[in-house]
Amino acid sequence: MLDDSSLTPQTSALGAPTGPAPLIDPFQRAISYLRISVTDRCDLRCAYCMSEHMQFLPKRDLLTLEELDRLCGVFIARGVRKLRITGGEPLVRRDIMHLFRRLSRHLDSGALEELTLTTNGTQLTRYADELASLGVRRINVSLDTLDPDKFHEITRRGDLKVVLDGIAAARAAGMKVKINAVALRDVNADEIPDMIAWAHGLGMDMTLIEVMPLGEIEADRTDQFLPLSVARQRLETRYTLTPLPDRTGGPARYVRVEETGGKLGFITPLTHNFCESCNRVRLTCTGQLYMCLGQEDSADLRAVLRASQDDAVLAQAVVEAITRKPKGHDFVIERQRPAAVPRHMSVTGG
Ligand code: SAM
Ligand code: SF4
Repeated sequence: MLDDSSLTPQTSALGAPTGPAPLIDPFQRAISYLRISVTDRCDLRCAYCMSEHMQFLPKRDLLTLEELDRLCGVFIARGVRKLRITGGEPLVRRDIMHLFRRLSRHLDSGALEELTLTTNGTQLTRYADELASLGVRRINVSLDTLDPDKFHEITRRGDLKVVLDGIAAARAAGMKVKINAVALRDVNADEIPDMIAWAHGLGMDMTLIEVMPLGEIEADRTDQFLPLSVARQRLETRYTLTPLPDRTGGPARYVRVEETGGKLGFITPLTHNFCESCNRVRLTCTGQLYMCLGQEDSADLRAVLRASQDDAVLAQAVVEAITRKPKGHDFVIERQRPAAVPRHMSVTGG
């Protein structure tokens, strides 16, 4: 059912139209944040994310960069203030800087508050300067270990030095870097305190992520799962963690590490439900809009995009999709059950 009120232009106190209505879901959450997966491909194969022999989507199924730009424009016109480009590895998509160049016009106009990126860092030496010049001020770099052998093992092929050089390039270009690490029970659990010291020593915030049951992989995720409640208890034997009030409308909860002065986030979809303040939706590289990372319902915006050049039609499809945003997800990691959500994170965009 379409909520007519969300299609009605807002009016100012004097009754003059002030632009299209913002996107408000049935639970009165304003949708101000769009995450966009621009490719399902990647130059790494992190063991918890992908299977060794991933079948990638045929290129014709992907939205073109022009289609992505058009769709982002529609969301921005409807009040989305933050875009995060992700994947797969967004920086391996051919001509990806073309999209950043196009999107940066919304930063210039003030319609967009933030254009940002989640990356594995392998291409940053090449792109950091241009990203910074286009107004990308902060990026997230995913890095689960500082041990070169372990890095090679987790990513099944990566060279840690390339990523560390990428991080250095991003910092040198003036971008603020946040390190995201997935907490893996028998792989990096022992290293987490030292990684925090390293990241904070360089002025980078860090966020720990729980493994989520997204997409089939070879391993059993119960073997990898480290509840962050446990990781946090262990950290408290070395560090003093002071809870911070920061909220981003997302799943992270933050603390200050008193000994380092840096900020540490915990993303805990499995041990803590964060849905009540969710402000985001996700667009896959094929133009499916997922209203929740942990639910199957989606809207096929590619079909609408390709059927009509009229942005009003597209906007209406977006508004209708938002009326279907669920109250929350129900992830469960249970031994030997199929992944709770069959889509890999690289398709929906992490
Ligand atoms: N390739 C880029 C990167 O690695 O930053 C962007 C996409 S990646 C899918 C985004 C984030 O999702 C990464 O931080 C990655 O560690 C995380 N991720 C992937 N699969 C996950 C899973 N099953 N559970 C939790 N986090 C996952
Ligand atoms: Fe690639 Fe990112 Fe998935 Fe690793 S987590 S395989 S870098 S998409």
